[in-house]
Amino acid sequence: MTLHILTFIIGTFIASFFMTLAERSLTEKKSSLRDILFSRSRCTSCGKNISPLRLIPVIGFLAARGKCTCGSKINFLYPLSEIICGIVLTASVYINGISPVVIAEGIFLCNSLVIAYFDIKFMRISNLSIAAALIISIIIIFLTANPVYHLKIFAITSSILLLFGYIFAGSIGWGDIKFIAVISLYSDLYELIITLESAILTGCAAGIIIALLKTKNLKIKLPFAPFITAGLFITHFAGNQIYKAFIIYIQQY
Ligand SMILES: [Zn+2]
Repeated sequence: MTLHILTFIIGTFIASFFMTLAERSLTEKKSSLRDILFSRSRCTSCGKNISPLRLIPVIGFLAARGKCTCGSKINFLYPLSEIICGIVLTASVYINGISPVVIAEGIFLCNSLVIAYFDIKFMRISNLSIAAALIISIIIIFLTANPVYHLKIFAITSSILLLFGYIFAGSIGWGDIKFIAVISLYSDLYELIITLESAILTGCAAGIIIALLKTKNLKIKLPFAPFITAGLFITHFAGNQIYKAFIIYIQQY
């Protein structure tokens, strides 16, 4: 129980960090990396520094009753993202057992959720979010037994993605390509396949549904990061079962 409370709290702080990182880098173009990482958070309405107590995930929002001292409302998506990431990290440890790799992969999922959210909001992926994902990926491969195997998958996937990106320019964003490349760095081959298959299937299904609902305009542009993130979740929580089911299915014939 203590462990799960701890992972939940860590998840909320991680969400808060990734949200700030992505939002600042996408909205404050002139800020230096130092400002993005270390400057105090301010209210977007009155510009006042937010007090340290109110920066505590979820609790800060509740203590402030969702408002700044100037009276403007704080976006409820902040505490919501913190709660969601707390649950994700806790579920990750609960389902997959506690290990440094599981924790690191759970943190990667939290960052991916933030990437997905801002891709929906701005149709862009922050390079700093990708850099954070890359750092977590590198940590994961050093925690696993075989970094060389992962580097090979990364090299092959990146080459294919680069070719795809140039040949089908415009059909997939460079942000998505970087995101997938970073995922390929720490994924096992079967995990990468399940992630990408799930991303493409959920993306196509969503695309068809949205196109049917908006019959006037069949040319739609969807952010792809939410589907990549959906694929990551499927792989993280059910990848092994899907892989085993697939092997059993293959061996029947
Ligand atoms: Zn204010």
